Amino acid sequence: MDELRELYQSVILDHNKKPRNFREPSGANRASEGHNPLCGDHVVVQLVLDGDVVKDVGFRGHGCAISTASASLMTEAIKGRPVGEVRDLFERFHALVTSRPSEEVDATDLGKLSVFAGVREFPMRVKCATLCWHTLCAALDGGSEPVTTE
Ligand code: ZN
Repeated sequence: MDELRELYQSVILDHNKKPRNFREPSGANRASEGHNPLCGDHVVVQLVLDGDVVKDVGFRGHGCAISTASASLMTEAIKGRPVGEVRDLFERFHALVTSRPSEEVDATDLGKLSVFAGVREFPMRVKCATLCWHTLCAALDGGSEPVTTE
């Protein structure tokens, strides 16, 4: 279990240090902005939506290691996928991070996103991990109001 925890931590630290897709995708046609006032996380998610497929995605902003790593892993996980699959992935990710720590959760199809299982033990951190996803959904929905976790 400790080994697993260390692995999770190293993935999160790596993505915080070298965030993937930390850029403005060219030709972005959807964008949204999100804030987590409790922690001070701020993120802007931009997408290139081609029909029903997230052709490209990037993010900008600043925040804690959890929020940055979550946005980085999210962009890797959703790039090239249809919107339906992306929303489904968010539902399963959300179920994982909001489940009780003692609860058995099947995270096999979450891939690398399962590294956030440890967040369950820190309710304050759940908002850091889900901020980018809420922002993504707002971008998909085409809303222009900034998202806040409050
Ligand atoms: Zn945070």
